[in-house]
Amino acid sequence: MRIVADTDVCIGAGQCVLTDPDLFDQDDDGTVVVLAGSPEGEKVDSAREAVKLCPSQALSLVAD
Ligand code: SF4
Repeated sequence: MRIVADTDVCIGAGQCVLTDPDLFDQDDDGTVVVLAGSPEGEKVDSAREAVKLCPSQALSLVAD
């Protein structure tokens, strides 16, 4: 699985970082930065949760 972040629609809400700071960070403008783009194991569940919680639908999880 691969995390894809659309930085054009990210509104910097930070929900993804709160969900899993190992997978996501934010740059100085608050825009999402994906730290680990290919989650494995339980990190896939975290990534799924972040996709669900993102208020701007900026995140998606796609099959490799
Ligand atoms: S939760 Fe969504 S809108 Fe908020 S920082 Fe993460 S990707 Fe951006």
